Amino acid sequence: MPDEPDEPGLTPATVAVTAGRPPHDPDQPLNVPITMASTYVGGGDLEYGRYANPSWAAFEDTLGQLEGGRCLAFSTGMAAVLTVFDLVGLGAKVVIPEHAYQGSLVALADLESRGRLTSVLVDIEDTDAVVAACEDAALVWIESPTNPALEVADIETIARAAHEAGAVVVVDNTFATPLLQQPIDLGADIVVHSATKYLAGHSDVLLGALVTADDELFAVLKGRRSLAGNTPGTLETWLALRGMRTLHLRVERAQANAQTLVPLLREHPAVAEVRYPGFGGIVAIVLAKGELAADLLVRKTRLWVHATSLGGVESTFERRRRWKTESPTIPVGLVRMSVGIEDVGDLWADLVRALDGVVG
Ligand SMILES: *Cc1c(COP(=O)(O)O)cnc(C)c1O
Repeated sequence: MPDEPDEPGLTPATVAVTAGRPPHDPDQPLNVPITMASTYVGGGDLEYGRYANPSWAAFEDTLGQLEGGRCLAFSTGMAAVLTVFDLVGLGAKVVIPEHAYQGSLVALADLESRGRLTSVLVDIEDTDAVVAACEDAALVWIESPTNPALEVADIETIARAAHEAGAVVVVDNTFATPLLQQPIDLGADIVVHSATKYLAGHSDVLLGALVTADDELFAVLKGRRSLAGNTPGTLETWLALRGMRTLHLRVERAQANAQTLVPLLREHPAVAEVRYPGFGGIVAIVLAKGELAADLLVRKTRLWVHATSLGGVESTFERRRRWKTESPTIPVGLVRMSVGIEDVGDLWADLVRALDGVVG
């Protein structure tokens, strides 16, 4: 008998809605239930709560399909990040963008200060410099767009150079989501997510994930998670999957809102600079009058909430240099905006009222 023809690939919107569900059999629930279990009747595939859980698996199936690999959920994005850093041998070299997520940079600096590894900070938009830095590297960490500078990396070129050097290539895809960027297709070995952000999408869950198409790496990462116990909560994976059912709609709307706001912000006299990579829902503005104007702005809005984090349905913003660990190369008056899915007219009206108040 001839092989079954391959099923035509489903579009991401359909995967987001349909993946990770029970079979369509009578009396099956449409959604995988929340399984609260520390252990399972022995002799099967699950065995113990630190190794596996059906609610994790439903989330992992869905994100794995969206990214084109196999997924492992972790308690937080940082738990996933540290699991990847732990892959490298003693004294190995890690290349990372100077404007990567602060937590990743702080964790790396901590490991370096204890002699665990060495790190090289790069301008991720300077592809030639990044390629040169790949020599002798064990791990090349890419974040694109970066946080909060919103620089965009040439992932394909960097991944090729990193692989020639024998390095593992990792992309933190938190800002872009698998809907706007699929790093595995571009050559990445591992994709990192803070599912806390767009994937869960409602500012009520902490969750992380790794995705890889490499079976050996998957087995190593899964083994480490089982031992370290940096495992996700059952409720968290269930909530994140519920959030992912609308990921495509939320990302589409946040992006459309951002694309409407960017030219308006560029015209406003209180704004000296607008950074936007052209896609996604994160925008950074630099206030012409600097730090004080930025601090005033984030206190003067009614809809926009002053809060760290990003990727929720609600619009939030933050002056990034309020954090002592933020890179000194980020302007003091830079406000990172996570554009939500509200009506864009209401969002602009609220913003412009506050911006008008910081012009003079
Ligand atoms: C938030 C974030 C992380 C860390 O994730 P947590 O879920 O907060 O632990 C890592 N990378 C990026 C780009 C992030 O925005």
